[in-house]
Amino acid sequence: MHEIRLFTACALAALASFSSAAQQSASTPPGAADIAPCVTQLRSEALKRGIDGARFDGWFAGVETDPSVLDLLDRQPEFTMQPWDYLAALVDDKRIADGRRKLAAHSEVLERIEATYGVERQVLVALWGVETRFGERMGSRPLVRSLATVSCFGRRQPFFREELMAVLRILQDGDVPLEHMVGSWAGAFGHAQFMPSTFRRAAVDFDGDGKRDIVGSIPDALASAANYLARAGWKRGEPWGHEVRLPRKYRGPSGRRTRLAMAQWRALGIKRVDGRALPGEEAAALLLPAGANGPAFLVMQNFSALLAYNPADAYALAIAHLSDRLRGGGAIHASWPKGEPALSRDQRISMQERLSLRGFDVGNADGIIGPRTVDAIKEFQKSLGLTPDGFPTIGLLGRL
Ligand code: CA
Repeated sequence: MHEIRLFTACALAALASFSSAAQQSASTPPGAADIAPCVTQLRSEALKRGIDGARFDGWFAGVETDPSVLDLLDRQPEFTMQPWDYLAALVDDKRIADGRRKLAAHSEVLERIEATYGVERQVLVALWGVETRFGERMGSRPLVRSLATVSCFGRRQPFFREELMAVLRILQDGDVPLEHMVGSWAGAFGHAQFMPSTFRRAAVDFDGDGKRDIVGSIPDALASAANYLARAGWKRGEPWGHEVRLPRKYRGPSGRRTRLAMAQWRALGIKRVDGRALPGEEAAALLLPAGANGPAFLVMQNFSALLAYNPADAYALAIAHLSDRLRGGGAIHASWPKGEPALSRDQRISMQERLSLRGFDVGNADGIIGPRTVDAIKEFQKSLGLTPDGFPTIGLLGRL
């Protein structure tokens, strides 16, 4: 489940982080004929897993490589999107208005899904809106062709082979017809952009026709998303988090990996943006998506469930915020540091190299600001007496 159409440095970072055993891409792009021997291998693998040979031949009739998919697999984003631009692109007036219409139009089925899985309807509609604009943009690449290409060429072939085998199982089971098996280049499909392996674990038949059709049935798609979130630990009726205000010169922890009891956050002087004390006793993490000069959020278990859908903070925040807006909530209170430009890939690499020279551990200087680089930035900020927010800026690069 990657919102790849919108860009996702984060999804690409997640892909990169999987690739410790990555294969190198072929040095020359594969031609259409080159895939035939690999399809023969895929066929015997599929047969071993109980896929019918004649049906396999039918699904693969005329399948060629799609070189554009390999380009997307290897794409290194020059600029990543700043969180405020990402959020503005995903949570705009049109998506809020459309989402409210969807809540009304599907109220009966949403009520039953909510009762069954305990996931609030506004969250499901927000996820639907962020993933595919409520089914308008489910992707149009044939999954068999895309996944055969990345199963046979490029890095991460074993990962994509599993996804391809899951597609074949879905086709053989008759849940979704071949002509509906289209989606993103990486294989996400349907209203909520499930990966095929996710479908096998979490898709449900909610309209009772015996098929788990997350493309052709909105009840099936939304109930499947609810089932996924419920299994990821969604807590019925709990908030995802709160926008908060930091005390001046905050020097405490931040980042999703540091979960503290609410009492500890209170003791650190953190309050809700309306000035009231933080409610509840649930453990929470402090997110500073744009650093200490932007909005701050304490996030709880339900935010983690959204991260299980796509492991990017900005993604989970978009769904969380859109769900609040669908409930009638207002805009994010604090302003974003919009004058702050995104670092280019060269600048990100340069930041990593300079941190490394100063003895801060960043791992590989690969231009991806992952957890280790964030920790290194925090350590450097602490050494300067700054709020350790881990947010890379041009100003900080200058001070290195
Ligand atoms: Ca169904």
